[in-house]
Amino acid sequence: MNRITKEQFEKAYCERSNITLTYYHSHFVALPCACDYEQCEGWASVTNDADMIAAHMRFYAPRVGQESNGSLWNGDVWVV
Ligand SMILES: [Zn+2]
Repeated sequence: MNRITKEQFEKAYCERSNITLTYYHSHFVALPCACDYEQCEGWASVTNDADMIAAHMRFYAPRVGQESNGSLWNGDVWVV
C-alpha cells in the first residue's frame, strides 16, 4: 500500500464515512500509524480523546527512521 499524506488520508476517510472535514476535525485526529495491517495507509483516525491518542501513539506510532511498507517515517511525513 502506498503511503499518502495526512490530508489525503483525512479526505478519503471523510468520503468513506460520509462526513465533512469539519466534523472529522471536531471528533477525530489523524495520527501516523505503523501497524502491521496490510491495508494500512500509514495513518489512523483516532477519536479526539487524550487516552485514545496516548494509546495509539504508544502502540502504533512509527519512530523517526522507522520503515513500514516500503516507506520511511521522517517525523513529519512518510517518504518513499
Ligand atoms: Zn495502521
